[in-house]
Amino acid sequence: MLLGMPALPTSPRGVGNLRGDETFPVAARRALANGQLRANLGHATQTIRTKRAQVVGEVAGWEALREAGSQLKRHTMGDLETYLLQLEEKVTARGGTVHWARDATEANEIVTRLVRATGADEVVKVKSMATQEIGLNEHLESQGIAAYETDLAELIVQLGHDKPSHILVPAIHRNRSEIREIFLREMADVDPELTDEPAVLAAAARQHLRRKFLSARVAISGANFGIAETGTLGVVESEGNGRMCLTLPETLITVMGIEKLVPRWTDLEVFLQLLPRSSTGERMNPYTSMWTGVTPGDGPQEFHLVLLDNGRTAVLSDAHGRDALNCIRCSACLNVCPVYERAGGHAYGSVYPGPIGAVLSPQLTGVEDNASLPYASSLCGACYDACPVKIDIPSMLVHLRNAHVETHRAEHRLPSAESAIMKAASWVMSNDKRWSAAVRGARAGRVLGRKRGVIGPIPLPLADAWTQSRDIPRPPTQSFRDWWTAEHEGGQR
Ligand code: SF4
Repeated sequence: MLLGMPALPTSPRGVGNLRGDETFPVAARRALANGQLRANLGHATQTIRTKRAQVVGEVAGWEALREAGSQLKRHTMGDLETYLLQLEEKVTARGGTVHWARDATEANEIVTRLVRATGADEVVKVKSMATQEIGLNEHLESQGIAAYETDLAELIVQLGHDKPSHILVPAIHRNRSEIREIFLREMADVDPELTDEPAVLAAAARQHLRRKFLSARVAISGANFGIAETGTLGVVESEGNGRMCLTLPETLITVMGIEKLVPRWTDLEVFLQLLPRSSTGERMNPYTSMWTGVTPGDGPQEFHLVLLDNGRTAVLSDAHGRDALNCIRCSACLNVCPVYERAGGHAYGSVYPGPIGAVLSPQLTGVEDNASLPYASSLCGACYDACPVKIDIPSMLVHLRNAHVETHRAEHRLPSAESAIMKAASWVMSNDKRWSAAVRGARAGRVLGRKRGVIGPIPLPLADAWTQSRDIPRPPTQSFRDWWTAEHEGGQR
């Protein structure tokens, strides 16, 4: 049993996809230079935002629904151990087998062992963030087992030897002509006259996958929800590929993060309203598949549930950070985030990009392994407003920034250039005379901005990093204080 263990391990290094090779600023700078990527992202996020706003606007009690979702999740996290044990008992009673995976390494080993035991050397997969997180496909491949993604966007990512860049739309960074090129290059059975019409591309993918669905003996899925009361697992999806994987093979293996629980069946009435509206901008999910253990003569006759910790217990132990576990992976926060829209998902280096990734990934790995992510935000608060379970991501970002700063302070690596600047600013701003002198001095900057009306990059130490990506407004001839004095105090100071 993982809960209650004295040590609270984070996700191990060297396995899975929670850590990038570069910091966010380095990766984001390269992404910002890619005009095609920015155009694809801007178009896609705008479309989803518009759809979401329409269907959310139809629900009179949307705020009450959000509150209900938030309360249900907080209640579940407050008694997670009890609900997990209840889930295990119910799944087992219905003929399933529950496995507990401390981390990504254990989960990969468990799944590999289970697939090997069936004698199969290939599996079909339902789109799953948990299996992306642990790098399951890569691990299975290294063990001689081929994993075929069946969600269209995941298939595009897999065939393109690429990484997902969005929780819900993993290939959001690709446009249709790029997808056509990938299909022509990678699909042996594709029509060489393939066009980039969406319906034609979807038909090509369907044809490509059909044989896999019919021949696969093992399927691997994640789960959107696990219901403690009944031992039921649920997957919501839009294409029907999930339904095929969950019903046709002989063996089903589900990898689920331990936070995906809800206590009761009736709790789904809240989440199945919140999730589709927030994610795809639909009123309900096209395919909602639910299963409980094994049913003789119907569907997979062998069912394994792998419950994944991989740092979640450590997140749960942080009173200020644990709400990140309430996430239902709708991706609404990504679609409204101005940083995500411009930098794209790959810049975050983790399978969890955008605002939720900026708080979840550093907590799962330990803040220092993803220290740049809590700074990948303008703190505008759009993510909080959009979140269907009211996760206060901006406060969590500040909390994690503080954790990062405190770690460095403890290691005597401060004062950094930033803290020296902040101290100097504090000294100037805490005294009226010093501040007035600084404001008068700033007017000298007018000379720098006389051509463009703004001050561009300043090639000086300390100013360089800040001004490379930001223009500073040209200081006005009259400061606010001078104007106030002239207007209200007859020019007397
Ligand atoms: S944090 Fe909220 S908005 Fe973002 S993916 Fe999770 S549930 Fe959706």
